Amino acid sequence: MKRVFLAIALLAMGCVVWQGCVNARGDEGGTGETEGDKPVRNKFDWQPLAYDSTKQYIYLSFDDGPQHGTLACYELCRRERIKASFFMVGLHSAMKSDGPKIVTTVRESYPDFLLANHSYSHARGRYRDFYLHPGSAELDFLKAQDSMHVPYRIARLPGNNAWAETGAIKASWLTRPIARLLDSAGYYVIGWDVEWHFNKRARPVQTPGQLAAEVDSAFANNRTHTPRHLVILTHDRMFQHPSDADSLAKFIGILKQNPRYVFETLDHYPGVRGRK
Ligand SMILES: [Zn+2]
Repeated sequence: MKRVFLAIALLAMGCVVWQGCVNARGDEGGTGETEGDKPVRNKFDWQPLAYDSTKQYIYLSFDDGPQHGTLACYELCRRERIKASFFMVGLHSAMKSDGPKIVTTVRESYPDFLLANHSYSHARGRYRDFYLHPGSAELDFLKAQDSMHVPYRIARLPGNNAWAETGAIKASWLTRPIARLLDSAGYYVIGWDVEWHFNKRARPVQTPGQLAAEVDSAFANNRTHTPRHLVILTHDRMFQHPSDADSLAKFIGILKQNPRYVFETLDHYPGVRGRK
């Protein structure tokens, strides 16, 4: 009898805790289905963000997944309850046995995480050739968009820092043509303000403290593409070793100590709309 009572009590506690987690994360579980007469909003129906003028917005982005390290980044951000964006590569998904599953996990975790387009082939490492043929480069992005079911038209160019938003292009001569093409096709091209560099063994170069100081300095000296908004570039594979994942956790921990900093996904970067 005592055991039955204990089981019921634990079950009830579990429900309360689970409900608490759901509410705290703001998950809606919207699938476009209807709940009685009331339509439930599809979670990919993009909602604008009302910016708080007292805050500074940080967009943590992970490039080149799915790779070793992607799930470590995903789990860590989940544990830390921060938002992040993953720019993924179609070919990496196709080549990795659990690639499509990882892509789906990230995509379906919106609005906490954003899946974005980092091309299909990643230029196969031959950037100059890739960008000198902007027409085929555009097809490469479209292929990635379709194959990974990327929810919004938000992309990052492989190996190059470039920005494009409804006619406003900031890019080198080499990447300007593809930035223009993607912009005309309704894409937002997102670059970065601060990069966490990696060495030949794909391990982080700056310490968490050094990188956090770079973030503070970029805000303080207005060295961001958009004032009060800062995009950080990192790569999933940098955090496949537990000690490096620990560095990522430390970095996030330092930033979280600043009450002005808010983590957001890149569909909420100024000027960007979640276009499908
Ligand atoms: Zn890349």
